[in-house]
Amino acid sequence: MLGISAGFVIAIADICRGTWEWLHVIIFIAAFVMAGSGITVGYHRYTTHRSFAFTAVGRWLVRPMILFMGCLAWQGSPGRWAAIHQKHHRYTDDEEDPHSPHCRDGPWYRKLYQFMHAHVLWLFRDIPGIKIWDRSNPDWLERFITNWYILIGPVGGSLIALAIGGWHGIAWYYAAVFLSWHTTWSVNSVTHLVGYRHFKTGDQSTNLWLLSLLTFGESLHNNHHASQRSARFAHRWWEYLVDVGWWEIWLLRCCGMVHQVYTPQKRSIVDS
Ligand SMILES: [Zn+2]
Ligand SMILES: [Zn+2]
Repeated sequence: MLGISAGFVIAIADICRGTWEWLHVIIFIAAFVMAGSGITVGYHRYTTHRSFAFTAVGRWLVRPMILFMGCLAWQGSPGRWAAIHQKHHRYTDDEEDPHSPHCRDGPWYRKLYQFMHAHVLWLFRDIPGIKIWDRSNPDWLERFITNWYILIGPVGGSLIALAIGGWHGIAWYYAAVFLSWHTTWSVNSVTHLVGYRHFKTGDQSTNLWLLSLLTFGESLHNNHHASQRSARFAHRWWEYLVDVGWWEIWLLRCCGMVHQVYTPQKRSIVDS
């Protein structure tokens, strides 16, 4: 975590001193887009919820790439990420939720502490009852990527950034990871606190349109809690504009790479 934060500081220093290079900016943007897309499409909508299936061609052409992109985000292996997120859905905003901002009442400092827990501190805690691959049926590729995640994602991504942009290339890759972390973590913390709701979901999830500009649609979070298996998070036309993960799945379907794409069923949704 310190190394990733240091990368962010170095990138800011490069900007302040005017020593930044376009190559490093391209590394930053490419890494941010790949990590964000990998997390929402590969880790969340595919590995965790099986919102769609890959066709025979897509299974070997696209699936390794999208899971590799998720590994670049330094958020753990796809199997572990899915297990933690499934626990979040099972116990949303209850005591056993791994990252809820709602489990401590009291004075402001207790609430601030709970916010910090939901945002980042939960990463340093043991999460009991995590069962990897509890609800999905992984094949050897998903198991392989999960077992070798450190080498494939953090080490592999760093070496690629080093080869392309030198040591500052690594720093700018880490800066992209830093931004990707905090935007993803804001889905855990902020979109259970502030925002608008379309659905009564029995929890305190919200949608935050602006945050989806940086999370590829992930922060349409109340919509997601209402219809967890849906590959599409957007429900209003203006939400489609920021549901970039859905655009990507839609495009992959047009190219014949994915099929059996699950979208919200009207009867499964309760408008508030
Ligand atoms: Zn949630
Ligand atoms: Zn989910």
